Order: sequence, then C-alpha cells, then structure tokens
Amino acid sequence: MSTASRPRAAVVVTGSELLTGVISDRNGPWLARELTALGFEVAHVQLVGDRPDDLVRALDLAVAEGCELVVTSGGLGPTADDLTAEVVAGFAGVPLELDEAVYERVSGILAGFAARTGFGGPALEAANRKQAMVPRGAVALDPVGTAPGLVVPRPGGPLVVVLPGPPRELQGMWPAALAAPPVRDLLARVPAADARSLRFFGLPESEIAATLREIGAERDLSGVEITTCLRRSELEVDMRPEPGAGDVADALHAELGRRHARHLVSDDGTSTDELLARALRERRWTVATGESCTGGMLASRLVDLAGSSDYVAGGVVAYSNTAKTDLLGVPAEMIATHGAVSPEVARALADGARERFGADVGIGITGVAGPGGGTEAKPVGYVCFCVTTADGQVIARDPRLPGGRADIRERSTDVGMHLLLRAARSS
Ligand code: ATP
Ligand code: MG
Repeated sequence: MSTASRPRAAVVVTGSELLTGVISDRNGPWLARELTALGFEVAHVQLVGDRPDDLVRALDLAVAEGCELVVTSGGLGPTADDLTAEVVAGFAGVPLELDEAVYERVSGILAGFAARTGFGGPALEAANRKQAMVPRGAVALDPVGTAPGLVVPRPGGPLVVVLPGPPRELQGMWPAALAAPPVRDLLARVPAADARSLRFFGLPESEIAATLREIGAERDLSGVEITTCLRRSELEVDMRPEPGAGDVADALHAELGRRHARHLVSDDGTSTDELLARALRERRWTVATGESCTGGMLASRLVDLAGSSDYVAGGVVAYSNTAKTDLLGVPAEMIATHGAVSPEVARALADGARERFGADVGIGITGVAGPGGGTEAKPVGYVCFCVTTADGQVIARDPRLPGGRADIRERSTDVGMHLLLRAARSS
C-alpha cells in the first residue's frame, strides 16, 4: 500500500556516542513522529557518527530517495567533532559566513555562561565564532542552549533543518523551525496527516490481519496505509489515508472497531493512562496498589500523568512475605497454604491496599518474574492479579505472561492498568 502522493522527509541523527551504544537515540523517533503527524512520509531515519563523509552520504541518500525535507540532529556545538553546519553548507553548495546578529546573540548567552561558571577567554571566543557561522542564504534559529539551529535550502532540494543534539534543545527549537519561512512554505503543500487509530487489548495480531483480509476482499483499501504495532501490550492499528481516501479510512476504522469491540480500548488515540485517569476522576475514585513482582512499577505508572494526586492514594511494595503480612494484612497462613504467588494472595493484597489507604479501588499483583523460582504449577511468567472495589467488584486474572524478567514485569504493569480501567469503567 503506497502513500506516494505524500512528500517525503528524512531524519539524520549524528553522534558517535549513539553508534557505540553509550546513549540511545531519542531524537530520531521523536522527529519521525512529528514529521509523520505533519503529513510527511518518512523515508528513513539514519544514525551516523561524527564523520563528515558519513554525514554527506546520509544527505545524498535523502536526495536519492526524493526527500523534500531533511532534519538533522546534533553536531552544532563548539567542539571539533561538531561539524554539521559545515557539512550541510557544502551539501547546499554555499560558503559559511559569520552572521553578526547570531554572533551577538550567542555572545550574550556565552557571557552569562562565563559569569556563572568562571570559564571564559579565548576558548569561549572561539566557541562564539564557530557557532555564529551560518551557511549563506540560511535562516538561523534562535538558540535554546547555546547553539543556533539552521534552515538551509539546497538548490533543487531538499530543504535541510539543522537542529542541536540535546533532546531538550531540539524539541524546544522545533516550533521555531516549523515557523521559519522556507519550512512554512513547504508545510503549506503537505496534505494533513488525517490519521485514525485504534488500540486493542488482549487481541492477537493475527485476528486483525484476518479481519483486514476479509474487509480488503470486499473493498479497495489501497489508498490507506495500515500499520499495526504492539506497544505496552496493546495492539495499535494506524490508518493513514492518501489525500482523497479519508472516507475509506473512516469506513475501515468503524468496521475494525465494530468487529473487535470487545477488545477495543480507544478509537481516538487517547492513551490508556488518560482513559484510566478520566474514568477514576469521573467516579471520584481513588486507587491503591499492593505490588510484589512489579516492585512499584504500577504505582509509578499511575503517577506519570500530572494531576494524579486527584486519584492515586498510594501503594505498597510488599516484596517479602513478612511485608505482605505486616504492611497489607495478608494472613501468614494464606501464604503458607497457597503460596505467595496465588490468586488468594493477589486478592488479599488488593483488599489490604484498598483498606489501608482508604481507597475506592485496590489492586494486588504477585507473580514469578524469573528467571529462577518457577515450578511446574507456577512457572516463570505466572502472575496473579486482583482488583477489588469498595462497592464489591472483584476482577481476578492469573495469566502466564511471556518473555524475560523485564518483559514480565512490564507486561504485568500493563495488565494492571487495563484491569483497573475495566473496574473503573464498569457500572
Ligand atoms: P552541544 O552544544 O551540547 O555539543 P550539539 O548540537 O553539538 O550540542 P551533540 O554534540 O551531538 O549536540 O550532542 C550533545 C549531547 O546531547 C550528547 O552528548 C548527548 O548527551 C545528547 N544527545 C545528542 N544527540 C542525542 C540523541 N539523538 N538522543 C539523545 N541524546 C542526544
Ligand atoms: Mg556537540
């Protein structure tokens, strides 16, 4: 399924530290999401070291791929390995020139830095000059840190947006980059992304694939790019129509939602975290957690959103048996009889947390995260969940979750969120 009528964009992330695995790239995925949301088809995201030839090749590939826009990240600072401005100037076939206005702007920022840190003198002056070198004909973007960004038109395309590497600076500069005249003019020609999305929980990918085949046999879906992806234990289906195929995407969106209504979590892109927050607020409920194998990950997830103090009462990480008994009132005999990982103990953790915190809903999670400790009856990945509410609901599950220790703990957190959502949504 092609979206050939969308303008293409490329992302080039620079930094040798990203290739040695010292730090993980946060800019590539962020920019890819932004560009997709703006309506571009992202041709590729490349990661290259601080080597001029590699950067040139990456830019050349964007030309070969017919990209109208390239966004680069990193290599704008004062050090010798910061050479993006120079390379991009060469790519556009223009010289670098000292920009007086940028020089003054950077100068002011560096003076503040010198006053705060005591570092100044010739080193700072050199940094100032380097960061004020702008390719002829480029637009300089106001620094968020010390380095200005650049918008560099290349005759015959693409337009190159050069952004700093630190994610906070890159994201802070993005609105100014989009507002810069050459980018604004390009954006005016990009059709709106117009994407629809559906998220399901507990639905295997094969089911969606089968449904898509059935629907595809009845009507032409070629104008819609459909991607499915597993994220936070949810199956996300994104539908991006080519210009003019909005009706097909709408019909598909409705049909998929209808056929798999039982597993549908969200049909408008709202996250599970937001849905849960909304549902708890609407009921004026507070939640408390009693966690064993997730070690507080669910409580942490619950407080991810600002304003969570409205509905999160608190949580206990009751990892040892003694903690389960002393802090959450799980009877020692229950643990001895059924084991610490058991539906009974999950329920007692939920009740204990709810009662101790005076909350409206409680959740207990206890499981075998592995890699050791599994038995035939309770293998690695066996996790018991229970949600109980002050008004008498009890939702219990004891699935065997796949993966290693980290996967099991993450998936347990996801399942916990969904069980809470189910309780908060039920009437
Ligand atoms: P500076 O003026 O800070 O040198 P810069 O534009 O030259 O800015 P880089 O030298 O490429 O940026 O990166 C500076 C630091 O920013 C890196 O050491 C790293 O900590 C962070 N950083 C850069 N690129 C990324 C990235 N893609 N993902 C996450 N962090 C990054
Ligand atoms: Mg740098």
